[in-house]
This record gives sequence, C-alpha cells and structure tokens, in this order.
Amino acid sequence: MLFDVKKIREDFPILQREVYGKPFIYFDNAATSQKPKQVIDIINEYYFNYNSNIHRGVHYLSEKSTEAYEAAREEIKNFINAESLREIIFTRGATESINLIAYSFGEKYLKEGDEIIISEMEHHSNIVPWQMVCDRKKAILKIIPFNNKGELELDKYESLLSEKTKLVSVTSISNSLGTINPVKEIIKKAHDRDIPVLIDGAQAVQHIIVDVHELDCDFFVFSGHKMYGPTGIGVLYGKEKWLEELPPYQGGGDMIENVTFEKTVYGDLPFKFEAGTSDYIGAIGLAEAVSYIRTIGADNITSHEAVLLKKATEKLLSIDGLKIYGNAQNKTGVISFLLDNIHSYDTGMLLDKMGIAVRTGTHCTQPVMDHYGIDGTVRVSFAFYNTIEEIDVLYDSLIRIKEMLG
Ligand code: PMP
Repeated sequence: MLFDVKKIREDFPILQREVYGKPFIYFDNAATSQKPKQVIDIINEYYFNYNSNIHRGVHYLSEKSTEAYEAAREEIKNFINAESLREIIFTRGATESINLIAYSFGEKYLKEGDEIIISEMEHHSNIVPWQMVCDRKKAILKIIPFNNKGELELDKYESLLSEKTKLVSVTSISNSLGTINPVKEIIKKAHDRDIPVLIDGAQAVQHIIVDVHELDCDFFVFSGHKMYGPTGIGVLYGKEKWLEELPPYQGGGDMIENVTFEKTVYGDLPFKFEAGTSDYIGAIGLAEAVSYIRTIGADNITSHEAVLLKKATEKLLSIDGLKIYGNAQNKTGVISFLLDNIHSYDTGMLLDKMGIAVRTGTHCTQPVMDHYGIDGTVRVSFAFYNTIEEIDVLYDSLIRIKEMLG
C-alpha cells in the first residue's frame, strides 16, 4: 500500500475533532495512541453480536468468542514471530507482564545476594516490580548507566554481568529519550553467560519490526493501547521452556486443570498465566490493530516517522534556548525538551490551549530526569498519522510561547 497520511487520518475519528476551536494536534502517542475505526468497530461488533465468556460455554456465542480470542493469540504470535501459541499470554499490559515475570521468576529463582540488572532509562514499570521482588528476596538491583546523549554504556553493562546475575530487564526503546537500544547485543552478552533477558517492548512494537525469534529474548512485553489497540490488554511473550518452569502469578478460574481442596493441578500453557476472565474483546481489538498495522506496513511506518523526527528535531533546534534531552544516534519519534527556563508544565499548558497535546513531567522515568538534574521535560511523540504541517504548527506555537514567557 502507498503511504498516504491524509487518507490514513480518515481512519482515526478523533483526529477530525477540534479542541478550544482549533484543529486537534495529537503529539502524546508514547502515552497512548489513537484508535482507527477498524478497531473501534470490531469492539462494537463483538459487544453487539457475540459477547459471551470464553472457554467455558458450550453455546454458540461462547464458541464464537473463544474462537476469536484464540485467533487473536495467533495474530499476536505471527506479529512478533513467536514459535508457539503457548508462548503468548494475554495480560492487562506491559506493566502487568513485567510484574508477572518479576513475581514468578523471583519466586522460583531468586535468593539472597542474587542480582537483577536493569537500566537507568527504564520506565517505572520496569523498575518498581524488580525493587519489590528484590526487597522480598534480599536480592540486589544493578543499573546500566546511560551517557548524556541518552545511550546505554555497554562496557559498564558488561562489567555488571556476573555469576550473581539472574536476569537482565531493559527497554527496547526509551519512552522519554526515544533511544533505540541495541537489545540484540544486550541479549547476546547475557546469553553468553546463560542469563535470561526480558525486553520491554512497550515503545517498540508500534514503531519497528519486532521478531522475538531473531532477538532470541526470553521474555518480551508490550501494551495494546500504545499500538492502536484498546486499553486494558497487553502481551507477555515468554520462551516456552521458561513459562513451563515458572509458577503461576495469580490463581483462579481458567488457569486450572483440576481443583480439589487437597490439591490443585494448574492448567497448561498459556492458560496457566491467564487466571480469571480475560479481556477477550480487548484481545480481539488488539488483533485488529495488528492487522491494521500490517496494512499500513511496518516499513512505511518507520520511514514516515523518521521523516517526522528529522524535521521536528531540525525545527525545534532552530529555536534559540530550546534544549533536547536524548540525542542518541539511533532514535524513534520522541523529542523531550525544555524551552529557555520555562517550566515544562507551563509550556505544555500553553501548547494545549493552542490545540496541541503533549506530555510534561517525568514520563514515569524519574531517574532519567535525575540524570540531567531536571524535574521534567515537554515530550512530543509521533505516530504514523502525524504530519509535517502539524510540526510547523508546533514550531510556530513554541515561538509564541517563547515570546510570552521566555
Ligand atoms: N514501558 C515503557 C517503556 C512505557 O513507555 C510504558 C508506558 N508509558 C510502560 C512500560 C507501561 O505501559 P502500561 O502502562 O501500558 O502498562
């Protein structure tokens, strides 16, 4: 398909609206993406015509819902090139997926003095669950630092790896700096020492092609809502050999084979990790989002977003007094910045009044802000439906704000 951004925008009803009487410009895509009508329609379609709890019913609608839910699993498996359906667990999102592994892996493998390695640029959801399990098990969290450009210091990473390291967990792409990390290399270095690796793909799947087989990661997590799918649904990919070994995270219906008061036998993969009623309609919506991304074409997405990033970086840097945080060689469409000495919140509020939605503050990466000694940035993050014209409006708006407050 030829990439026609005007036509693509017609698929996103919310992009047609105005705020404060101005055309709505949505630059907060790293927080959540907007949804194409194909995704909204299928969710409606299922609630209108098919809703029925999965896996448990013998009746027509339950079978239809179950089939669609399991077909969604297949779609996700193919999307990230997993080997088996048993490796795809539906969760509430990246956060829950990380918590699941931190809990289950910690229960099974962590003991006092063991070490987990994460990086300085992790989202809080790839920090706090590890702190919690380290507290419980008296294990130690080690941090890979990044340089001022926002690139991980790989030599320091290597020096952290030791026989005490039990797991490495790093983000594929930083949500506040935009850095694309060399995760393949990170995984390889850990695997050379038989250490498993979790990759946080919450900012990756919507921007770059992800192939878990090629990456050879042990776990990979992401959220549906950041990749044009619904909220409340996400994925944990895990190599079957690990998921077989790990204990369940939650107990309840759907994750069991047999229950008596004396003994419960857990269900098979992937159900062992899907206790309770899953967000099956969310999963169906997510599969539709994947199919939508396929129609647009991952290569088209990557190249359009690269054009947006280059153009926006040039324009923003031409504004005297604007500083960008995160200047890695390898970046996706995220620009974190401060304008003069204006507080990020003030810039964000004024941009909002001009019709432009951005995010301000720490972006759930407080250690990144601490690294630079600031309390937050303004963050502009792109999706494939953003346009060069919108970047021009952003530029003009920032010039106005500078005149007002700079
Ligand atoms: N990791 C990264 C890199 C993220 O950007 C986010 C969301 N901002 C998360 C994890 C958590 O995602 P969710 O809130 O959807 O679970």
